[in-house]
Amino acid sequence: MRESQSGTAGRNVVVVGTQWGDEGKGKVVDWLTDHAQGVVRFQGGHNAGHTLVIKGVKTALQLIPSGIMRDGVACYIGNGVVVDPSHLLLEIGRLEAVGLDVRSRLFISESCPLILPFHVEVDKAREALRESSGAGKIGTTGKGIGPAYEDKVARRALRVQDLKHPERFAEKLRELLALHNFALTGYLNSTPLEFQPIFDMAMLAAEQIQPMMADVGYALHTANRAGANLLFEGAQGTLLDIDHGTYPYVTSSNCVAGNAAAGAGVGPDLLHYILGITKAYTTRVGSGPFPTELPMDEPGTVGHHLSTVGQERGTVTGRPRRCGWLDAAALKRSIIINGVSGLCITKLDVLDGLAEIKVCVGYELHGSRVDILPLDADDIKACVPIYESFPGWTETTFGVTAWDALPVNARRYLERVQSFIGAPIDMVSTGPDRDHTILLRHPYQN
Ligand code: IMP
Repeated sequence: MRESQSGTAGRNVVVVGTQWGDEGKGKVVDWLTDHAQGVVRFQGGHNAGHTLVIKGVKTALQLIPSGIMRDGVACYIGNGVVVDPSHLLLEIGRLEAVGLDVRSRLFISESCPLILPFHVEVDKAREALRESSGAGKIGTTGKGIGPAYEDKVARRALRVQDLKHPERFAEKLRELLALHNFALTGYLNSTPLEFQPIFDMAMLAAEQIQPMMADVGYALHTANRAGANLLFEGAQGTLLDIDHGTYPYVTSSNCVAGNAAAGAGVGPDLLHYILGITKAYTTRVGSGPFPTELPMDEPGTVGHHLSTVGQERGTVTGRPRRCGWLDAAALKRSIIINGVSGLCITKLDVLDGLAEIKVCVGYELHGSRVDILPLDADDIKACVPIYESFPGWTETTFGVTAWDALPVNARRYLERVQSFIGAPIDMVSTGPDRDHTILLRHPYQN
């Protein structure tokens, strides 16, 4: 607990991915939620995803904060999130089907921009056009995320609050649909969408969503002042950030920790500890440069090992993830941008049994050495990784819960990563269960 002007305030933690997403944030967020009374999403939409097992049933969460799995924890969708109303209700339905109380604990910012069916069409048609024109796909999740954010910054988006006003909604929808239909038919070789089915769907959803609408920023401020610990749950990863990632092969929001404040509606003084999540190796879904990528098809190779042992398939799209060695030179940039207080290394056990383990500590770029990931995607494509090599370990690290119980070579590997990036490793995850965790410093305790 910390002192606030009005008494004792809670401590808050931001969890962010430091790579290209899929770092295992879901498990860590779930673990930390034991110490939080509120969990907040602040960017992205249902392009994110992780699978949780509740009462033996697999449930995929994409939009709703993972705090929903714990009784009594309040869940907030901040203004920085783009909300697809049909998907939201689908996800609520799935959770209610396994007996979870969702509606009384879910608070949705009135300022969230809506994802509507034409955003999905534009997203898909644009990807198809990029592919056929030879420009190359971004490899989006096809959920309409990018087009919805475009409408937000163009100041023409329909927002959650518009659902309360059918006439206003209809008027704005007509204008927006005309614009997107123009693009779909005149430019994207696609077909136009009709007004009525979209309007009807939105009005049906409005009835259900209205009781969950909230002034999220103020609610978070008030809860925190009253002593609630908050957890800001990042989606995607730093290298997919619209400004700091491998542009244009990125998502359309800021995934970095600083955006937790703007995307939730609180001041940056409420972000007390930043936990960066990093896989012990690297993966990426979708297109774009990836300096340490390894070929994955051949059984017996490291790439094949990481892909199969790590079960590297996308939660949302089911696509196989590209795999490679840990890129500590890329990680270095993420640590700086996020102001990481401590790191959690995940999936260490996937490296068990490899004879040699490599970590990228810089690149050769056009004849010179660089020690941090460049900013230009073409430069990143041209980067040849410079590796340090470590002996592997034969012992299993699966489920290990104490640092001293790790094989000595695993500790050496992690210690080198820690000294290279200049941030402490505060946690190590050694398996999917909550208990498969080594804790060195607790993010909720100073
Ligand atoms: P979008 O977010 O659907 O526009 O996709 C843009 C890029 O971000 C693509 O390369 C996607 O594969 C990637 N992406 C989006 N969400 C995630 C995620 O949750 N994990 C990993 N990659 C993601």
